[in-house]
Amino acid sequence: MLRFALRPTVIASLLAFPLLPAQADTNAPAPVARQPAIEQIVKEISPARINAYINKLVSFETRHTMSDTVSETRGIGAARRWIKAELERCGTVKGRPELAVRFDSYIEPAGRRLTQPTEIVNVVAELKSAVPSDRYYVVSGHYDSRATDVMDASSFAPGANDDASGTAAVMEMACVMAQANYPLNANLIFMAVAGEEQGLFGAAHFAKTARASKMNIAGMFTNDIIGSSRADDGHLDNTQVRLFAEGIPALADMPEALRTLISTGGENDSPSRQLARHVKAIGEAYVPGFKVTIINRRDRYLRGGDHIPFLEQGYAALRFTEPNEDFNHQHQNVRVESGVKIGDLPEYVDVNYTAQVARVNAAALASLATGPAAPAQVKIQTTQLENSTSLVWQANPEPDLAGYRILWRETTAANWQHSVDVGNVTSYTMKNVSKDNVFFAVQAVDKKGNASVASYPLPLR
Ligand SMILES: [Zn+2]
Repeated sequence: MLRFALRPTVIASLLAFPLLPAQADTNAPAPVARQPAIEQIVKEISPARINAYINKLVSFETRHTMSDTVSETRGIGAARRWIKAELERCGTVKGRPELAVRFDSYIEPAGRRLTQPTEIVNVVAELKSAVPSDRYYVVSGHYDSRATDVMDASSFAPGANDDASGTAAVMEMACVMAQANYPLNANLIFMAVAGEEQGLFGAAHFAKTARASKMNIAGMFTNDIIGSSRADDGHLDNTQVRLFAEGIPALADMPEALRTLISTGGENDSPSRQLARHVKAIGEAYVPGFKVTIINRRDRYLRGGDHIPFLEQGYAALRFTEPNEDFNHQHQNVRVESGVKIGDLPEYVDVNYTAQVARVNAAALASLATGPAAPAQVKIQTTQLENSTSLVWQANPEPDLAGYRILWRETTAANWQHSVDVGNVTSYTMKNVSKDNVFFAVQAVDKKGNASVASYPLPLR
Protein backbone atom coordinates (compact mmCIF):
# COMPACT_ATOMS: atom_id res chain seq x y z
CA MET A 1 0.00 0.00 0.00
CA LEU A 2 1.24 3.49 -0.80
CA ARG A 3 1.92 5.61 2.21
CA PHE A 4 0.84 8.87 0.57
CA ALA A 5 -2.12 10.01 -1.43
CA LEU A 6 -0.77 10.27 -4.96
CA ARG A 7 -2.16 12.23 -7.87
CA PRO A 8 -3.36 10.25 -10.91
CA THR A 9 -0.25 11.24 -12.90
CA VAL A 10 1.95 9.72 -10.23
CA ILE A 11 -0.05 6.54 -10.10
CA ALA A 12 0.10 6.39 -13.89
CA SER A 13 3.87 6.75 -13.82
CA LEU A 14 4.08 4.04 -11.19
CA LEU A 15 2.03 1.75 -13.40
CA ALA A 16 4.18 2.65 -16.40
CA PHE A 17 7.38 1.98 -14.48
CA PRO A 18 6.82 -0.89 -12.05
CA LEU A 19 9.92 -0.37 -9.93
CA LEU A 20 10.96 -3.94 -9.56
CA PRO A 21 14.73 -4.42 -9.40
CA ALA A 22 14.84 -6.54 -12.58
CA GLN A 23 13.18 -3.74 -14.57
CA ALA A 24 15.02 -0.82 -13.02
CA ASP A 25 16.82 -0.15 -16.32
CA THR A 26 13.62 1.20 -17.83
CA ASN A 27 14.21 4.22 -15.57
CA ALA A 28 17.18 5.54 -17.53
CA PRO A 29 18.08 9.07 -16.35
CA ALA A 30 16.00 11.74 -18.07
CA PRO A 31 17.99 13.55 -20.79
CA VAL A 32 18.70 17.30 -20.56
CA ALA A 33 15.78 19.28 -22.05
CA ARG A 34 17.79 21.52 -24.40
CA GLN A 35 16.40 25.06 -24.64
CA PRO A 36 16.75 27.03 -27.92
CA ALA A 37 17.63 30.19 -25.97
CA ILE A 38 20.53 28.47 -24.20
CA GLU A 39 21.71 26.96 -27.50
CA GLN A 40 21.76 30.50 -28.89
CA ILE A 41 23.88 31.76 -25.94
CA VAL A 42 26.35 28.90 -26.47
CA LYS A 43 26.54 29.74 -30.20
CA GLU A 44 27.17 33.45 -29.55
CA ILE A 45 30.34 32.84 -27.47
CA SER A 46 33.07 34.20 -29.74
CA PRO A 47 36.73 33.04 -29.80
CA ALA A 48 37.61 36.27 -31.67
CA ARG A 49 36.27 38.49 -28.87
CA ILE A 50 37.94 36.28 -26.22
CA ASN A 51 41.19 36.69 -28.17
CA ALA A 52 40.80 40.48 -28.24
CA TYR A 53 40.10 40.59 -24.46
CA ILE A 54 43.19 38.48 -23.70
CA ASN A 55 45.43 40.64 -25.89
CA LYS A 56 44.07 43.83 -24.31
CA LEU A 57 44.71 42.45 -20.79
CA VAL A 58 48.26 41.44 -21.77
CA SER A 59 48.85 44.98 -23.15
CA PHE A 60 48.81 46.41 -19.59
CA GLU A 61 52.26 44.70 -19.27
CA THR A 62 51.69 43.69 -15.65
CA ARG A 63 48.50 43.27 -13.64
CA HIS A 64 50.36 42.50 -10.44
CA THR A 65 48.24 43.39 -7.42
CA MET A 66 50.87 45.92 -6.21
CA SER A 67 51.55 47.37 -9.69
CA ASP A 68 50.79 50.91 -10.94
CA THR A 69 47.22 52.11 -10.39
CA VAL A 70 47.63 55.64 -11.81
CA SER A 71 48.76 55.06 -15.41
CA GLU A 72 46.06 54.72 -18.05
CA THR A 73 48.08 52.20 -20.06
CA ARG A 74 50.14 50.12 -17.63
CA GLY A 75 49.41 48.20 -14.43
CA ILE A 76 46.44 46.79 -12.55
CA GLY A 77 44.56 50.10 -12.17
CA ALA A 78 44.30 50.65 -15.92
CA ALA A 79 43.35 46.98 -16.38
CA ARG A 80 40.40 47.11 -14.00
CA ARG A 81 39.14 50.45 -15.30
CA TRP A 82 39.17 48.94 -18.81
CA ILE A 83 37.34 45.77 -17.65
CA LYS A 84 34.65 47.87 -15.95
CA ALA A 85 34.22 50.18 -18.96
CA GLU A 86 34.05 47.25 -21.37
CA LEU A 87 31.38 45.46 -19.28
CA GLU A 88 29.37 48.69 -19.06
CA ARG A 89 29.64 49.15 -22.84
CA CYS A 90 28.69 45.62 -23.86
CA GLY A 91 26.12 45.33 -21.08
CA THR A 92 24.12 48.27 -22.44
CA VAL A 93 21.42 47.05 -24.78
CA LYS A 94 19.32 49.61 -26.68
CA GLY A 95 20.41 52.31 -24.21
CA ARG A 96 19.42 50.22 -21.20
CA PRO A 97 22.13 49.00 -18.78
CA GLU A 98 21.41 45.26 -18.44
CA LEU A 99 24.60 44.69 -16.43
CA ALA A 100 25.00 46.62 -13.16
CA VAL A 101 28.79 47.02 -13.01
CA ARG A 102 30.64 48.19 -9.88
CA PHE A 103 33.98 48.04 -8.11
CA ASP A 104 34.00 46.00 -4.89
CA SER A 105 37.08 47.10 -2.97
CA TYR A 106 38.77 47.08 0.42
CA ILE A 107 42.26 47.57 1.86
CA GLU A 108 44.25 44.39 2.56
CA PRO A 109 46.90 45.04 5.24
CA ALA A 110 50.58 44.32 4.57
CA GLY A 111 51.52 40.67 5.02
CA ARG A 112 53.63 37.81 3.72
CA ARG A 113 52.78 38.56 0.08
CA LEU A 114 52.05 42.32 0.33
CA THR A 115 54.79 44.81 1.22
CA GLN A 116 52.28 47.55 2.01
CA PRO A 117 48.55 47.92 2.66
CA THR A 118 46.97 47.53 -0.79
CA GLU A 119 43.56 48.27 -2.24
CA ILE A 120 42.12 45.04 -3.64
CA VAL A 121 39.47 45.75 -6.27
CA ASN A 122 37.02 43.25 -7.78
CA VAL A 123 34.99 44.20 -10.86
CA VAL A 124 31.46 42.91 -10.27
CA ALA A 125 28.78 42.81 -12.99
CA GLU A 126 25.30 41.72 -12.00
CA LEU A 127 22.60 40.46 -14.36
CA LYS A 128 19.29 40.69 -12.50
CA SER A 129 16.56 38.07 -12.49
CA ALA A 130 13.32 38.98 -14.26
CA VAL A 131 11.29 37.99 -11.20
CA PRO A 132 12.11 38.84 -7.57
CA SER A 133 14.70 36.30 -6.42
CA ASP A 134 17.35 36.13 -3.69
CA ARG A 135 19.15 33.27 -5.48
CA TYR A 136 22.58 34.03 -7.00
CA TYR A 137 25.17 32.21 -9.08
CA VAL A 138 28.69 33.66 -9.22
CA VAL A 139 31.29 33.06 -11.96
CA SER A 140 34.82 34.46 -11.71
CA GLY A 141 38.26 34.76 -13.24
CA HIS A 142 41.21 36.61 -11.68
CA TYR A 143 42.64 39.54 -13.60
CA ASP A 144 45.83 39.96 -11.53
CA SER A 145 49.05 38.38 -12.85
CA ARG A 146 52.55 37.60 -11.58
CA ALA A 147 56.13 37.00 -12.65
CA THR A 148 58.58 34.41 -11.22
CA ASP A 149 58.95 36.36 -7.96
CA VAL A 150 55.46 36.77 -6.53
CA MET A 151 56.53 40.12 -4.98
CA ASP A 152 57.81 41.53 -8.30
CA ALA A 153 55.28 44.23 -9.19
CA SER A 154 57.05 45.73 -12.21
CA SER A 155 58.41 43.00 -14.54
CA PHE A 156 56.45 42.03 -17.68
CA ALA A 157 53.79 39.60 -16.40
CA PRO A 158 51.46 38.92 -19.36
CA GLY A 159 49.35 36.28 -17.56
CA ALA A 160 47.66 35.38 -20.84
CA ASN A 161 46.54 31.97 -19.64
CA ASP A 162 46.74 32.61 -15.86
CA ASP A 163 44.29 34.19 -15.84
CA ALA A 164 43.45 36.53 -18.71
CA SER A 165 41.85 33.41 -20.22
CA GLY A 166 39.40 33.07 -17.31
CA THR A 167 38.79 36.83 -17.11
CA ALA A 168 38.13 37.01 -20.87
CA ALA A 169 35.76 34.04 -20.70
CA VAL A 170 33.80 35.66 -17.85
CA MET A 171 33.61 38.99 -19.75
CA GLU A 172 32.40 37.21 -22.88
CA MET A 173 29.74 35.27 -20.93
CA ALA A 174 28.56 38.49 -19.25
CA CYS A 175 28.24 40.33 -22.57
CA VAL A 176 26.51 37.49 -24.42
CA MET A 177 24.08 36.77 -21.59
CA ALA A 178 23.29 40.47 -21.02
CA GLN A 179 22.37 40.78 -24.69
CA ALA A 180 20.46 37.50 -24.82
CA ASN A 181 17.37 39.13 -23.32
CA TYR A 182 16.51 35.78 -21.74
CA PRO A 183 14.36 36.14 -18.59
CA LEU A 184 16.14 34.69 -15.55
CA ASN A 185 14.64 33.26 -12.36
CA ALA A 186 17.87 33.86 -10.43
CA ASN A 187 20.61 36.53 -10.47
CA LEU A 188 24.01 36.09 -12.10
CA ILE A 189 27.23 37.75 -10.94
CA PHE A 190 30.16 37.91 -13.37
CA MET A 191 33.30 38.85 -11.51
CA ALA A 192 36.94 39.69 -12.29
CA VAL A 193 38.83 39.47 -8.99
CA ALA A 194 42.25 40.73 -7.87
CA GLY A 195 44.82 39.54 -5.33
CA GLU A 196 44.52 35.86 -6.32
CA GLU A 197 48.26 35.35 -6.71
CA GLN A 198 48.95 37.15 -3.40
CA GLY A 199 46.50 35.02 -1.39
CA LEU A 200 43.00 34.74 -2.95
CA PHE A 201 42.26 38.16 -1.42
CA GLY A 202 39.54 39.49 -3.74
CA ALA A 203 37.50 36.29 -3.75
CA ALA A 204 37.86 35.89 0.02
CA HIS A 205 36.59 39.44 0.57
CA PHE A 206 33.57 38.83 -1.65
CA ALA A 207 32.76 35.43 -0.07
CA LYS A 208 33.11 36.75 3.50
CA THR A 209 30.91 39.77 2.78
CA ALA A 210 28.35 37.51 1.09
CA ARG A 211 28.22 35.15 4.05
CA ALA A 212 27.91 38.03 6.54
CA SER A 213 24.90 39.42 4.64
CA LYS A 214 23.37 35.90 4.33
CA MET A 215 23.56 36.10 0.54
CA ASN A 216 22.01 33.02 -1.08
CA ILE A 217 24.78 31.90 -3.48
CA ALA A 218 23.48 28.61 -4.85
CA GLY A 219 26.68 27.95 -6.77
CA MET A 220 30.04 29.48 -7.67
CA PHE A 221 32.46 28.68 -10.54
CA THR A 222 35.97 29.98 -10.95
CA ASN A 223 37.73 29.79 -14.32
CA ASP A 224 41.49 29.79 -13.80
CA ILE A 225 43.95 28.61 -16.48
CA ILE A 226 41.49 27.65 -19.19
CA GLY A 227 43.62 28.93 -22.09
CA SER A 228 45.68 26.06 -23.35
CA SER A 229 44.94 22.67 -24.84
CA ARG A 230 48.66 21.79 -25.00
CA ALA A 231 50.48 19.84 -22.28
CA ASP A 232 54.13 20.42 -21.33
CA ASP A 233 55.12 17.29 -23.33
CA GLY A 234 53.45 18.87 -26.39
CA HIS A 235 50.42 16.61 -26.71
CA LEU A 236 47.12 18.27 -27.52
CA ASP A 237 43.75 17.71 -25.88
CA ASN A 238 41.05 20.21 -26.73
CA THR A 239 38.21 17.79 -25.99
CA GLN A 240 37.79 18.21 -22.24
CA VAL A 241 38.02 20.51 -19.24
CA ARG A 242 38.73 19.54 -15.65
CA LEU A 243 36.07 20.51 -13.12
CA PHE A 244 37.38 20.36 -9.56
CA ALA A 245 34.68 19.60 -6.99
CA GLU A 246 35.35 19.30 -3.27
CA GLY A 247 33.52 16.66 -1.23
CA ILE A 248 32.80 17.33 2.42
CA PRO A 249 33.83 20.99 2.96
CA ALA A 250 36.82 21.35 5.26
CA LEU A 251 35.14 23.86 7.61
CA ALA A 252 36.52 24.63 11.03
CA ASP A 253 33.19 23.83 12.69
CA MET A 254 31.28 21.05 11.02
CA PRO A 255 27.55 21.84 10.84
CA GLU A 256 25.08 19.12 11.81
CA ALA A 257 24.00 18.69 8.15
CA LEU A 258 27.55 17.74 7.14
CA ARG A 259 27.93 15.33 10.03
CA THR A 260 24.71 13.66 8.86
CA LEU A 261 25.99 13.60 5.28
CA ILE A 262 29.05 11.65 6.39
CA SER A 263 27.11 9.33 8.69
CA THR A 264 24.76 8.32 5.83
CA GLY A 265 27.62 7.62 3.40
CA GLY A 266 26.95 10.83 1.48
CA GLU A 267 30.55 12.01 1.18
CA ASN A 268 30.19 12.03 -2.62
CA ASP A 269 26.89 13.93 -2.44
CA SER A 270 28.05 17.26 -1.03
CA PRO A 271 26.50 20.42 -2.53
CA SER A 272 29.64 20.98 -4.66
CA ARG A 273 29.50 17.42 -6.05
CA GLN A 274 25.78 17.79 -6.91
CA LEU A 275 26.56 21.10 -8.63
CA ALA A 276 29.42 19.43 -10.56
CA ARG A 277 27.12 16.61 -11.79
CA HIS A 278 24.67 19.26 -12.99
CA VAL A 279 27.38 21.24 -14.82
CA LYS A 280 28.63 18.04 -16.47
CA ALA A 281 25.14 17.03 -17.64
CA ILE A 282 24.27 20.49 -18.97
CA GLY A 283 27.72 21.29 -20.40
CA GLU A 284 27.97 18.03 -22.32
CA ALA A 285 24.40 18.36 -23.63
CA TYR A 286 24.97 21.85 -25.07
CA VAL A 287 28.63 21.50 -26.15
CA PRO A 288 28.70 18.17 -27.99
CA GLY A 289 32.06 16.41 -28.25
CA PHE A 290 33.48 18.28 -25.25
CA LYS A 291 33.89 16.40 -21.97
CA VAL A 292 33.53 17.84 -18.47
CA THR A 293 35.86 15.65 -16.42
CA ILE A 294 34.88 15.90 -12.77
CA ILE A 295 37.86 15.63 -10.42
CA ASN A 296 36.72 14.69 -6.94
CA ARG A 297 39.03 17.02 -5.10
CA ARG A 298 39.22 20.67 -4.15
CA ASP A 299 42.13 21.60 -6.45
CA ARG A 300 45.44 20.34 -7.85
CA TYR A 301 48.30 19.57 -5.44
CA LEU A 302 50.29 22.67 -4.40
CA ARG A 303 47.72 24.96 -6.00
CA GLY A 304 44.59 26.86 -5.04
CA GLY A 305 42.01 29.17 -6.53
CA ASP A 306 39.16 31.59 -5.98
CA HIS A 307 36.58 28.85 -5.36
CA ILE A 308 38.31 28.00 -2.06
CA PRO A 309 37.21 31.11 -0.08
CA PHE A 310 33.62 30.33 -1.17
CA LEU A 311 33.96 26.70 -0.03
CA GLU A 312 35.32 27.96 3.28
CA GLN A 313 32.19 30.09 3.71
CA GLY A 314 30.03 26.99 3.15
CA TYR A 315 28.99 27.68 -0.47
CA ALA A 316 29.04 25.09 -3.28
CA ALA A 317 31.96 26.11 -5.53
CA LEU A 318 33.87 24.58 -8.46
CA ARG A 319 37.04 25.23 -10.44
CA PHE A 320 37.44 24.90 -14.22
CA THR A 321 41.00 24.24 -15.47
CA GLU A 322 42.47 22.94 -18.75
CA PRO A 323 43.26 19.19 -18.83
CA ASN A 324 47.09 19.34 -18.98
CA GLU A 325 49.04 22.37 -17.86
CA ASP A 326 52.41 23.53 -19.16
CA PHE A 327 54.16 24.99 -16.14
CA ASN A 328 56.73 26.76 -18.36
CA HIS A 329 53.86 29.05 -19.31
CA GLN A 330 52.73 30.03 -15.81
CA HIS A 331 54.16 32.17 -12.99
CA GLN A 332 57.43 32.74 -14.91
CA ASN A 333 59.35 35.75 -16.16
CA VAL A 334 59.23 35.93 -19.94
CA ARG A 335 62.64 34.69 -21.23
CA VAL A 336 64.45 32.15 -23.39
CA GLU A 337 66.36 29.42 -21.54
CA SER A 338 68.49 26.88 -23.46
CA GLY A 339 66.45 27.65 -26.56
CA VAL A 340 63.10 27.20 -24.78
CA LYS A 341 60.69 30.14 -24.66
CA ILE A 342 59.22 30.56 -21.19
CA GLY A 343 56.35 32.78 -20.07
CA ASP A 344 52.58 33.13 -20.02
CA LEU A 345 52.22 34.62 -23.51
CA PRO A 346 49.14 34.90 -25.76
CA GLU A 347 50.83 32.70 -28.40
CA TYR A 348 50.35 29.71 -26.05
CA VAL A 349 46.63 30.35 -25.66
CA ASP A 350 44.16 28.43 -27.83
CA VAL A 351 41.16 30.76 -27.86
CA ASN A 352 38.94 28.17 -29.54
CA TYR A 353 39.57 25.97 -26.51
CA THR A 354 38.87 28.84 -24.08
CA ALA A 355 35.61 29.48 -25.95
CA GLN A 356 34.56 25.83 -25.44
CA VAL A 357 35.09 26.21 -21.68
CA ALA A 358 33.17 29.50 -21.74
CA ARG A 359 30.30 27.72 -23.54
CA VAL A 360 30.14 25.04 -20.84
CA ASN A 361 30.05 27.78 -18.18
CA ALA A 362 27.42 29.82 -20.02
CA ALA A 363 25.14 26.83 -20.66
CA ALA A 364 25.39 25.77 -17.01
CA LEU A 365 24.75 29.30 -15.71
CA ALA A 366 21.82 29.88 -18.05
CA SER A 367 20.29 26.55 -17.08
CA LEU A 368 20.85 27.15 -13.35
CA ALA A 369 19.49 30.70 -13.42
CA THR A 370 16.39 29.88 -15.48
CA GLY A 371 15.63 26.51 -13.89
CA PRO A 372 14.18 25.97 -10.41
CA ALA A 373 16.16 26.02 -7.19
CA ALA A 374 17.24 22.65 -5.79
CA PRO A 375 14.41 21.31 -3.60
CA ALA A 376 14.78 22.26 0.07
CA GLN A 377 14.35 20.13 3.17
CA VAL A 378 14.58 16.83 1.30
CA LYS A 379 14.27 14.05 3.87
CA ILE A 380 14.14 10.30 3.89
CA GLN A 381 11.78 8.46 6.27
CA THR A 382 13.77 6.27 8.62
CA THR A 383 11.13 5.58 11.24
CA GLN A 384 10.70 1.91 10.38
CA LEU A 385 12.63 -0.96 8.85
CA GLU A 386 11.36 -1.45 5.28
CA ASN A 387 12.69 -2.08 1.78
CA SER A 388 10.73 0.75 0.18
CA THR A 389 11.94 4.35 0.39
CA SER A 390 9.75 7.28 1.37
CA LEU A 391 10.99 10.77 0.52
CA VAL A 392 9.48 14.11 1.55
CA TRP A 393 10.49 17.67 0.63
CA GLN A 394 9.38 21.28 0.73
CA ALA A 395 7.43 22.68 -2.24
CA ASN A 396 9.46 24.95 -4.55
CA PRO A 397 8.32 28.59 -4.91
CA GLU A 398 8.69 28.95 -8.71
CA PRO A 399 5.38 29.64 -10.52
CA ASP A 400 6.47 27.65 -13.62
CA LEU A 401 7.23 24.50 -11.66
CA ALA A 402 6.03 21.26 -13.28
CA GLY A 403 7.01 18.74 -10.60
CA TYR A 404 9.80 16.64 -9.19
CA ARG A 405 12.17 13.93 -10.34
CA ILE A 406 13.63 11.21 -8.11
CA LEU A 407 17.17 10.11 -9.02
CA TRP A 408 19.10 7.13 -7.78
CA ARG A 409 22.34 5.25 -8.30
CA GLU A 410 24.31 2.40 -6.77
CA THR A 411 26.49 3.55 -3.88
CA THR A 412 29.66 2.85 -5.89
CA ALA A 413 28.49 4.74 -9.02
CA ALA A 414 29.67 8.29 -9.68
CA ASN A 415 26.68 9.54 -11.67
CA TRP A 416 22.92 9.09 -11.54
CA GLN A 417 21.80 5.84 -13.17
CA HIS A 418 18.01 6.05 -12.89
CA SER A 419 15.24 8.60 -12.64
CA VAL A 420 11.47 8.79 -12.43
CA ASP A 421 9.22 11.86 -12.71
CA VAL A 422 6.69 11.80 -9.90
CA GLY A 423 4.52 14.85 -10.62
CA ASN A 424 3.90 17.95 -8.53
CA VAL A 425 3.90 16.33 -5.08
CA THR A 426 6.02 16.83 -1.96
CA SER A 427 6.36 13.19 -0.97
CA TYR A 428 6.88 9.94 -2.77
CA THR A 429 7.41 6.28 -1.96
CA MET A 430 9.68 4.16 -4.13
CA LYS A 431 8.45 0.61 -3.81
CA ASN A 432 11.14 -2.05 -3.54
CA VAL A 433 14.11 0.29 -3.97
CA SER A 434 15.82 0.35 -0.61
CA LYS A 435 17.41 3.50 0.82
CA ASP A 436 19.93 1.12 2.38
CA ASN A 437 21.24 -0.01 -1.02
CA VAL A 438 21.32 3.09 -3.24
CA PHE A 439 21.79 6.86 -3.05
CA PHE A 440 18.73 8.98 -3.76
CA ALA A 441 18.21 12.63 -4.65
CA VAL A 442 15.33 14.86 -5.69
CA GLN A 443 15.27 17.45 -8.51
CA ALA A 444 12.67 20.12 -9.25
CA VAL A 445 11.64 20.36 -12.93
CA ASP A 446 9.97 23.36 -14.60
CA LYS A 447 7.40 23.39 -17.41
CA LYS A 448 10.13 23.71 -20.09
CA GLY A 449 11.88 20.63 -18.69
CA ASN A 450 14.73 22.49 -16.95
CA ALA A 451 15.85 20.36 -14.00
CA SER A 452 17.39 21.82 -10.85
CA VAL A 453 20.56 20.70 -9.13
CA ALA A 454 19.79 17.52 -7.17
CA SER A 455 19.24 17.57 -3.41
CA TYR A 456 20.53 14.70 -1.28
CA PRO A 457 18.05 13.62 1.41
CA LEU A 458 19.01 13.65 5.06
CA PRO A 459 17.24 11.30 7.49
CA LEU A 460 13.91 12.60 8.82
CA ARG A 461 13.91 12.62 12.59
ZN1 LIG B 1 45.52 31.60 -11.54
